[in-house]
Amino acid sequence: MARITLIKIAEARRLGANGIDYSPRLGAVCPWCGNKTKIVRTMPWEDSTRIRYHLCQTTGCAMAKMGDTIKSIEIDPVDEKKEEAVCRMK
Ligand SMILES: [Zn+2]
Repeated sequence: MARITLIKIAEARRLGANGIDYSPRLGAVCPWCGNKTKIVRTMPWEDSTRIRYHLCQTTGCAMAKMGDTIKSIEIDPVDEKKEEAVCRMK
């Protein structure tokens, strides 16, 4: 495999491990192939954020082949604004 591809895979795996943005419309998009991923685990809300774990199931995708779980982070924009407002009042 070409070196550049390995670097890109490493980058995609790093993104998946650190957490990518969760879209209420699209869910989490695989950092490697850009397809929608399947949710395998949903964590409870913690303040205004929620973590989910996903698996890419696209045939031929490097992330899918390695079976890496992809972490996504959803931030409730309304709740976050509310918290900011509370901070300003203090
Ligand atoms: Zn993928």
